[in-house]
Amino acid sequence: MTRIAILGAGPIGLEAALAAAQRAEDFVVYEAAATVGGHVRSWGHVRTFTPWALNVSPRVRAALPGAPDGKALPSGTQLADDLLEPLADIPELHGRIRLGTRVLAVGREGLLKHEAIGDPRRATRPFRLLISRPDGSEGIDHADVVIDATGTYGNPNRLGDGGIDAVNERAFEDRIVRYLPALQSQPRRWAGRTILLTGSGHSAQTAVCQLAAFARDAPGTRVVWAVRKPEPDWGAVDDDPLPERASLNSAAADLAGGASDAVTLRPGCVTEALHGRGDKIVVTLRNGEPDEVEVDRILALNGGVGDHALYRQLQVHECYATSGPMNLASALLGESGGDCLAVSPHGPETLRNPEPGFFILGAKSYGRNSQFLLRIGWQQVDDVFGSLIEQGAR
Ligand SMILES: Cc1cc2nc3c(=O)[nH]c(=O)nc-3n(C[C@H](O)[C@H](O)[C@H](O)COP(=O)(O)OP(=O)(O)OC[C@H]3O[C@@H](n4cnc5c(N)ncnc54)[C@H](O)[C@@H]3O)c2cc1C
Repeated sequence: MTRIAILGAGPIGLEAALAAAQRAEDFVVYEAAATVGGHVRSWGHVRTFTPWALNVSPRVRAALPGAPDGKALPSGTQLADDLLEPLADIPELHGRIRLGTRVLAVGREGLLKHEAIGDPRRATRPFRLLISRPDGSEGIDHADVVIDATGTYGNPNRLGDGGIDAVNERAFEDRIVRYLPALQSQPRRWAGRTILLTGSGHSAQTAVCQLAAFARDAPGTRVVWAVRKPEPDWGAVDDDPLPERASLNSAAADLAGGASDAVTLRPGCVTEALHGRGDKIVVTLRNGEPDEVEVDRILALNGGVGDHALYRQLQVHECYATSGPMNLASALLGESGGDCLAVSPHGPETLRNPEPGFFILGAKSYGRNSQFLLRIGWQQVDDVFGSLIEQGAR
């Protein structure tokens, strides 16, 4: 029987687990967080743009007849509480999910990255997984097939120009928040403060709307919103079929246009350096000439990319531009831009790697492309379990 290791119990890792269970495969799911849906819970206060009807796969709906349906937009917390937790509890997945267990690295027994290049004999050696258990101890597990569904949310991008650290960025780590926080539940942290917000995607747009609302009750709250694009379009989609997304885009554009005194947009700006002055952070921004702003906190919402150090010793062909697995990345680059709802799955061949039996699925498979949607992941799981598992483990 093929031993399958599934890395990550997010929506797509659990989807893969269900597919494995239905094929009576031998599988284990490793989840770094203490609960399933660790990343989803990190953005638990945010509502999805897609309704329940589009957030539950046909496979899960059949296995979990009470799964939510309809037009309501769940928050991340609801997605975890009402879908992922009940799914993890079904008898087929019982005892298969190791919570609090992080996979630190994956290699091939007896082979380094540069050995047996493109040689199918690599598949005759099992994968070795270095794991860290909840009690802090480490150990090695083995598998014939590895599905890496560890997502991107745990690896936020850095603040500085060119995607590298700004000068002194590491020294201010404790005052930089890199995840969209539940602002309303942390008033002491944000009220009456001056905040540098970076990024122009949906997370930054959500943050600026929440901070502007916050500023109405907490005068003195100021947001300096630095975005790299000189003329940001906020990712607006013509005749957007997702009303929540459309209204977020338009609210963010209004704030960028001066609708709130609390928000100052700095378009075409990058972050150069951070320095301390008393209890303030002096941020050097650059748009042509450098200039300084004095802030209390930094909210760096610049997207993320999956952890590729995890498979450093495997023969994974990564795209030099997006860091996604090459075949899928080139298919995605061919259709870059537009609405994520218009992106369709690209077929099993795009999921194949030079490393036999190693598959990157879910949000991580999209590299730096942020257009991943759950339904793409369900199809990826179909593709892998349709034909690739046997080929990979051979
Ligand atoms: C704010 C936000 C809103 C979104 N809204 C939508 C939407 O409306 N509709 C939609 O279709 N998509 C949406 N997405 C995109 C996407 O569907 C989600 O990101 C989804 O959670 C991706 O699922 P995943 O299983 O690939 O990865 P994740 O949900 O990121 O799960 C990865 C899991 O792996 C675990 N993990 C990480 N590293 C390790 C390790 N080394 N070892 C073990 N476990 C590890 C993490 O703890 C996590 O639980 C949204 C994304 C975000 C961030």
